[in-house]
Amino acid sequence: MSLLDQILHKTHSGACGQTWIDDPGGEELVSFNPADGSALGRVRMASGDNYELVLRAATATFERWRMLPAPRRGEIVREIGNELRLAKDELGTLVTLEMGKILAEGKGEVQEMIDVADFATGLSRQLHGLTMHSERPGHRMYEQWHPLGVVGVISAFNFPVAVWSWNALIAMACGDTVVWKPSSKTPLTAIAVQHICNRVLARHGWQGVLNLVIGSGEVVGDRLVRDPRVPLISATGSTAMGKRIAPIIAAGMRRSLLELGGNNGVIVMDDADPDLVVRAVLFGAVGTAGQRCTSIRRLFLQKGIARRITDRLSVAYRQIRIGDPSDPATLMGPLIDRDAVAAMERGLERARNEGGHIVYGGKSLAGCFVEPVLIHARPDMPVVREELFAPVLYLLEFDTLDEVLAWHNDVPQGLSSAIFTSNVQSAEMFLSAGGSDCGIANVNTGTSGPEIGGAFGGEKETGGGRESGSDSWKAYMRRQTVTVNWSGELPLAQGIKFEL
Ligand code: NAD
Repeated sequence: MSLLDQILHKTHSGACGQTWIDDPGGEELVSFNPADGSALGRVRMASGDNYELVLRAATATFERWRMLPAPRRGEIVREIGNELRLAKDELGTLVTLEMGKILAEGKGEVQEMIDVADFATGLSRQLHGLTMHSERPGHRMYEQWHPLGVVGVISAFNFPVAVWSWNALIAMACGDTVVWKPSSKTPLTAIAVQHICNRVLARHGWQGVLNLVIGSGEVVGDRLVRDPRVPLISATGSTAMGKRIAPIIAAGMRRSLLELGGNNGVIVMDDADPDLVVRAVLFGAVGTAGQRCTSIRRLFLQKGIARRITDRLSVAYRQIRIGDPSDPATLMGPLIDRDAVAAMERGLERARNEGGHIVYGGKSLAGCFVEPVLIHARPDMPVVREELFAPVLYLLEFDTLDEVLAWHNDVPQGLSSAIFTSNVQSAEMFLSAGGSDCGIANVNTGTSGPEIGGAFGGEKETGGGRESGSDSWKAYMRRQTVTVNWSGELPLAQGIKFEL
């Protein structure tokens, strides 16, 4: 049976520990297609008791999984990557059906999972520490990295599968087991991924390495966040969610890895290439219907180029094909639900009341569809400082780079940023310690669509977490500093004498 046949128009168990739990005991959750409002499938959510079964499976499996040599764990991750390659079209289609992003982006999200699987496979042979020269004769010092335990992964609706893979596949290679609580808006993609992973793990005689619990944030998410058996919670979502859970995790002296909201700015200098700017802004502000954490929300235009870019964007915005996200001709699909449409309407109303002037768009269309918006604004408008999770782009004019850098950084969020310029001094100023204060800073390319090889994440209220590439794997392991004394003496560090 194909993956889509297995998932669509069925009722599913929303909990998988050692195996799928027949009746996970919670309420029923219906997953809707945001493009037409139809029900795609039903899920029986996990109750507290069944959460417990899943946690026990993950905890028990960790005892054995951590002892499997890392390169052998990597082989299993590689096979998951291969299964994802085979399932790319179907899983990408399911992402489009359930989340509403266009098909190219749905499949792109699965490609990101495949890339992460390759990366994690390589990592499984590179989880290395440093060696240090000891100040004491006949001593050796080094550090090693051990698996951490059960990692809780809480994910947002807008990247229903890729963000899980950034965490889960790397944590798995690191020797952790994982319990995933996906967004209640996208449970079916999570179930599909779990089926794929179960298949691979079962071939190798493993159960309980990758686990799933579907339920609301307030019930199942909250249990995971408070669970002392889970040493790391990696949570992706709104800053409001992060602010709720961070103190709870910190109070238990556990670790959190937070990937929260952004309010990403692009600075366009007079000497920028207008063609690059327009293309980058279209993808960055309209792609995924503005529902990426890295979507461009603030476009700072130097006064000499502002008119030209605004005019070209107005023309381009008129040509954006809005509609069925599974039609290859469509560039912008729907928002995730009617609540998101209402939030956009409220945001636009506020922007108008605060002095913003709509240049193009902003109409709500049928169902969850909206027109993308260009809006002239000022940096001191309070609404501009907030993340509005919709295709709303504020246009802000400036005179000097110093002035715009101050405006750019004067928001609570610090995820992604970019400058468009042909002047190396402007670019380097933007990248300097006095430049962008974000976790991601780009030159002549937009704020969204990062590659998996870099560490992804942001500063300030974006939460400070780093995931995916570079040395982000260290978040999923514990560092142990080792000193071995082979001297036959017992010299103390710092030359201390302590003798009778
Ligand atoms: P959300 O905060 O509503 O939900 C995110 C997840 O948190 C869901 O699984 C939800 O059930 C869970 N949750 C909510 N309250 C919880 C609680 N009290 N305890 C435990 N879990 C809880 O976010 P959303 O609407 O799904 O996603 C959009 C937001 O996510 C935007 O702000 C976007 O910028 C952000 N996001 C950030 C990144 C990043 O990498 N920085 C990536 C994707 C999305």
